[in-house]
Amino acid sequence: MLPLDFIDSIERQMGDELDLFCRAMQAPATTSVRLNDKLVIPDFIGKKVPWCDNAYYLDNRPKFTLDPLLHAGCYYVQDASSMFIDYILKKYVSKQSVVLDLCAAPGGKSTLISQYLGNDGLLVSNEVVRQRVFILSENIQKWGNGNTVVTHNKPSDFSERCTNFFDCILVDAPCSGEGMFRKDAKAIDEWSEKNVELCISRQRSILMDSWDALRPGGILIYSTCTFNTHENEDNANFIKNTLHADILPLDIPKEWGITETIGYHFYPHKVKGEGFYVCVFRKKDAPFATKKLKSDKLKRTVATECEDTLRSWILQPELWTLRQEDRFSIAYPIKFKELIDYFSTCLTCISTGFGVGEMRGKIPAPQHSLSMSKQIRKEEFVNIEIDKETALKYLRCEALPFENQPIGYLLLTYMSQPLGFVKNIGGHSNNMYPKEWRIRNL
Ligand code: SAM
Repeated sequence: MLPLDFIDSIERQMGDELDLFCRAMQAPATTSVRLNDKLVIPDFIGKKVPWCDNAYYLDNRPKFTLDPLLHAGCYYVQDASSMFIDYILKKYVSKQSVVLDLCAAPGGKSTLISQYLGNDGLLVSNEVVRQRVFILSENIQKWGNGNTVVTHNKPSDFSERCTNFFDCILVDAPCSGEGMFRKDAKAIDEWSEKNVELCISRQRSILMDSWDALRPGGILIYSTCTFNTHENEDNANFIKNTLHADILPLDIPKEWGITETIGYHFYPHKVKGEGFYVCVFRKKDAPFATKKLKSDKLKRTVATECEDTLRSWILQPELWTLRQEDRFSIAYPIKFKELIDYFSTCLTCISTGFGVGEMRGKIPAPQHSLSMSKQIRKEEFVNIEIDKETALKYLRCEALPFENQPIGYLLLTYMSQPLGFVKNIGGHSNNMYPKEWRIRNL
């Protein structure tokens, strides 16, 4: 049941279309996935999402948890409307950009941005809520690009420590969630006019606190998953008038059903997707503004042990620099070395690039993150193809027997996609899948 106050407020917005809108809100939510480019195409592919590369609608909603390819980072289950960010990036953001995704968990839009930037650009994927930052880091590692630093900071930290810096900032703001009503009954229970007020003031704080981190001429993408004009159009006007930015137009084919106001609305009776709003801005140029990176600490760099072995596990070692943190060696883009070293002195970095190895005695053990990385040199390991049942046991962290296989680290694959490592010790093996990622509800 939709809240009555919500129907009152949306009635003004919808006019003659109210009936159609309300009917669409009672219909089941759509299901869509965005494929990772490391994928062998699985058999459930449906109709294409028109505004995003490698994205498809599904006719039904399978039990995704039971598909090992999901855990191998081969695709992300994401609402089609949210994937519109891809269309905006292509139009306004160069692939060489340094992008900040400020409100990033669980990582739907971050994995999309990471795929768009590839090896050319850098993504800082941030989440302020502690409990949510780990699922963000997990999803980034599974996606496997290595071009991302996951941080846990307040919006103001970026303005203070990275002034006039980012080429693009995405603020996918926490909102009243009206566009999620079909998908999530909790969003209906939590909706109230008071909560909308609270959201508006939080959204404006986030925007004001992070604004100085965007370089003059840089792109701000502001989005919400609500229909509410106070959280959308009013905030777009606030960005334009108070923060001094130009609203940028998008050329959108009519048949996509997207509604243009100040910004763009995705309404469920017109678009195959959930409710979404987005507006794109360019920060006005300020000729004398300079980039400021401020830190008073110096990073202690530790030489990486067994560097040759670790580098031999990477497909393009020339693209990556290695750093050792305690027992762990991580790889991150050489192109952004100084910048990432700087971030690690002044931001709370939860994960950086991809983990390669962990020192255990004198010999490194491969890290799980390496198996998820597009940079893994698979032929450096004994590959064992496993069936679905074994894959699910592996993902539940069960110990698996690998008789007649060499002793040492084995790379398990499912449909040729790496799932993770085991250490075969003869007769049985140690499961190296991260315990905190294991699947529990089967
Ligand atoms: N962009 C994400 C995606 O595509 O998967 C969804 C982001 S969700 C709409 C908004 C995020 O903002 C949540 O993860 C929430 O924890 C975070 N958030 C909540 N309060 C915040 C605040 N005051 N400042 C910054 N982020 C906040």
